[in-house]
Formats: sequence, structure tokens, C-alpha cells
Amino acid sequence: MAKRKQSTKSNNGGIPFHPDFVEPTETERHAAIGSFPGATHTASTRKAMLNEAQLHLDDDRAPSLVESFSDLDEAKLYEPAGKRAMTTMAVPKPRDEQDWLACVPEEGQTFDEYVRFLTTRSGRFSRIANVGYDHIVLLPIVRSRSVSDSHWPDHGVPLEPLVPLAKAFFHRPVRLFPPAVLCDEKPSGDRMNPSQGVAISFTMKFPTASSDHNGRQQYLHATVTGRKDLASQRVQLNLEDVLYALKTFREDESLLAADGGEPLPNSSFCVMAITMDDLYMDPTDLFVSGMAFGGDKVAVFSFSRYHPHIKMHPGRWFDFGYGTKHDNYSYYEEAHINPIGARKKAKKNLPALTPEPPTFDNMTRQAQTEFFRRCAKILVHELGHLYGLDHCIFNRCIMNGTGHLVEDFLAPFHLCPVCLRKLQWRLGFSVVYRYKKLADSLRGLGMDKEEKWIGKQLETLESA
Ligand SMILES: [Zn+2]
Ligand SMILES: [Zn+2]
Repeated sequence: MAKRKQSTKSNNGGIPFHPDFVEPTETERHAAIGSFPGATHTASTRKAMLNEAQLHLDDDRAPSLVESFSDLDEAKLYEPAGKRAMTTMAVPKPRDEQDWLACVPEEGQTFDEYVRFLTTRSGRFSRIANVGYDHIVLLPIVRSRSVSDSHWPDHGVPLEPLVPLAKAFFHRPVRLFPPAVLCDEKPSGDRMNPSQGVAISFTMKFPTASSDHNGRQQYLHATVTGRKDLASQRVQLNLEDVLYALKTFREDESLLAADGGEPLPNSSFCVMAITMDDLYMDPTDLFVSGMAFGGDKVAVFSFSRYHPHIKMHPGRWFDFGYGTKHDNYSYYEEAHINPIGARKKAKKNLPALTPEPPTFDNMTRQAQTEFFRRCAKILVHELGHLYGLDHCIFNRCIMNGTGHLVEDFLAPFHLCPVCLRKLQWRLGFSVVYRYKKLADSLRGLGMDKEEKWIGKQLETLESA
């Protein structure tokens, strides 16, 4: 999803694609899904294709393979039902000059290109695919004065419902770890442009399952730098430091997993850190919502700018506040832009913003749902990248890139036929089974349109 964010407003004039972007034709969009053994091959070629596909998966998942790969014959299985039929779901033209495809000449990745990317010439998974380690680890990161007094912030989206959702989306076990804690804040002594704040550093403590002879939990330590605006006391964390710390954490052979499960190096496919703290990379960044080290299978994402009440200045990273209602436009309205932003009552009768966010429990059900939806989408989008899915240019899809928050929030929750087939090939699930599990994981979260969409797919597939 979006990396560096700028303010944007849509205009309905014709905004062109990036001059180097080549819009796929209808034929190319259909071809991107790859060929189906049952449709285009003789019985023996079909058998060879299915055998080859099965080679890519580990034996311990063998019982599900017969069912999973029988799907490969069924082009229809991937084609969404209803209004979102493939022919109508091309990636929309840019509506704003900051939109993803107005700014990025994305090349796209067909199913065949994906398979080539992941396999060696002998047809087996290449090392990059990291097959065999299959747990997805979700690791919260929180800031706190002390490790003993650390908890996920109460203005954050609850993490527990993300576990079954990610599990269903990727057909893999998901483990939610106790939080890693950033504490011992101090000046780092690094030079920084004063208008960007002061340089600070934290000790980041990762929970392990070991304890010392007094029974105290042991932590693995790393240093993470950041910046702080002294007037507002707001802090942003250096994203690359966090990623390096995660990489060390994930690779530490001595670590028993803090959740009591298997050690990380032997069992985890990836470590996905989640934080309500703000991240940045370059001093000019307003913020960065997240990033992955794909080869190292670590990623960190911040939900802080996904808060449904947030309103932010388009240029100053520390200048934001919270409105009384949730809104899909997260930037300041003109009248909010004043030298002290959130602290001063805005003109034009706009209600003043408050510096502190409302807690999750104090938001309306609708705002809670919207917050959860935004977080769920970025989580699965980024996990998709860790499974090797590039940005999708063929259809409306959760793997579409986005240039800013407005575009982020409009992105759909589902995988398009091309990306669904990639993931199914990689992970070996039955498409129908996956939709059922995904529907279960959404129940009670209020994500009605997503639930309805999946219901429609199931109805169509089961009636066929
Ligand atoms: Zn992306
Ligand atoms: Zn796609």
C-alpha cells in the first residue's frame, strides 16, 4: 500500500496514467491468469502439470493436495461472481495526480511470471520461497516506560480478530506474540534539521521464553532510533532500524518463542510487526505506513494513520489531530491548516481537533469497523508481498498499489483471479474451503460488504 503520503483531493478531470505505464488489454488481463490443464492440454500433459504442481509443496501438507490441485482445472473457480465479473473489474483510471498508476509505471506480474520467480529451473521452489517454515508471526510493538507495564494501546485496533483472518486468507498457522517493547528513550546525539524534531533512540526488547535464575523473563535487545517533536511530544520511529532489529530477532537461534510455541528460526515463515506508533524513513517523509524486507521475511506496519478519526497536515509529520467523527478523508480540510494545527480551534465552524485519539471502545461501531477494515487490508496486502505477490495491474484487487490514504481506503479486500491463482498455487488450498474459512473469520466484525462478496462467491461456486 501507500508508502509516502501526501495530501490529495480527487478531481474528476482526466488524469493520465504515468507515461511509461502500459494499460493491459482485455486479452492480456485474461491471459495473466495462466493456462488451465483441463482446458488446453491432453490427459497426460494435464497429469504432468498436476504432478509438477504437487512437487512444490511439502509432504506434510499432502492430504490436502489432491483436493487443492483438483481446482487447477476450473478457470471458473477464480472468476468472481456478480457485478465484479472479471470483465468489469479492470484497475480504474487515476482520479488524482497522486494516484498510484499516475505516479508509478507498474509492470505487473502474471501467474506464469510468479511461478518463474518462485521456482528453480528444475521446477522446485527456490530458496526465496522458504517453503517448509509456515507460521506467520504477528508481533506487536509498543512504547512504554517499562516492559512490565506494556500493553497494546487502547486507541489501537484489537489484534486478536486479525489472527483467524490472516490464517484464513493465507491458509497458514498464525501466532500472535506478546509485544516487543520500546523503552529507555534518550537523545541519540544524531544531527537533525531542527524543523524535523530532535534525534532520539530507544532500546527495543523482544520477549523470549527464557527466564533468568530469579524467574524473570529474558529479552533480546536492539537499538531503534527515531525523531521527536518537542512541542507536541510526538515521536516517529526509524523504520529501517525496526526492520534490522526484527531480522536479528527472527534469526536468533537461541530464541525460544515467547508464545511457548516452536522456536522462530525453525517454524516461522515471516515476522510481521504491527505498531500504533508512527514510522518514517527519509526526513522528508510525512510518515511511512510500512515496509517489508522480502528476502528476510520481516515486515513492520503502522496502523497509526489508519485511525478513522485522524486529520493530518499534508506536510508536517507531527501536526495531526482527531476529529469527533470518523471520516474517509484523513487530511486537514483547508480550515484546519493553521500554525498550531490540532491545538487551535479551526475556523469555518469546523469542530476543533483533539490531540489525543478516542479509544477503540469509545468509537462508534461504524468507525470501529472501518478501522478494522483498513488494518485488515494493509495486513493481508503486505503479507501478500511476503508471499511474492507483486502489485497487480490486471484487475481491481487487494494487491493494487496505492498512492495515498484516500486510494488505500477504496481498495477492495479480495484477491483478483490472477492473484488468487498465484496464492493457491503457492499455498495449496481449496478455493471453496478458503472462502468458507474467510467468511467465518469475518463474522461479527461488521465487514458486511466483504462478507456479502464472499457469500456470493460461495453461492455461485457451490451451485455450479
Ligand atoms: Zn504494496
Ligand atoms: Zn490481482
